[in-house]
Amino acid sequence: MTTGKCYCGAVTYEIEGDIDYIVHCHCRSCRRACGAAFYSAGFLRASQFSVTSGETQIREFTFPENPSGARCFCGTCGGRLYIRLPVPGLINVAINTLDQEPHEDVGVHINVESKAPWDEIPEGREQYTTIPPDMLTQLQALMHSD
Ligand SMILES: [Zn+2]
Ligand SMILES: [Zn+2]
Repeated sequence: MTTGKCYCGAVTYEIEGDIDYIVHCHCRSCRRACGAAFYSAGFLRASQFSVTSGETQIREFTFPENPSGARCFCGTCGGRLYIRLPVPGLINVAINTLDQEPHEDVGVHINVESKAPWDEIPEGREQYTTIPPDMLTQLQALMHSD
């Protein structure tokens, strides 16, 4: 069982099973929303994810470009927790909030065309100027796997 929490610890969650698809998004929205060079997201089925404490602390910021998705964060510390995606049944969690962290960069760097001018992605990492062509297929496969 994988667990995680926000910065202040008011909101905790757990994940059943594995996170199979990790993305580092360098788009301008993720950079602004996170105040960081990129947002590292682990995609999973919403059914794998459950909030174990502090549910009432969670605030949502609806995507201005798509009202059926939202960035979800702790109302006390402001720590980003997860994104409720416009695709029903699928979410992504901020992998930096996990208690058990991946020890290496297993993610795909996306929207690299919008990355910060000073941000350098180490050589050999998988990267795409926008969205990888097979990303949707990968996510659909994830949603239908059990
Ligand atoms: Zn918090
Ligand atoms: Zn993004």
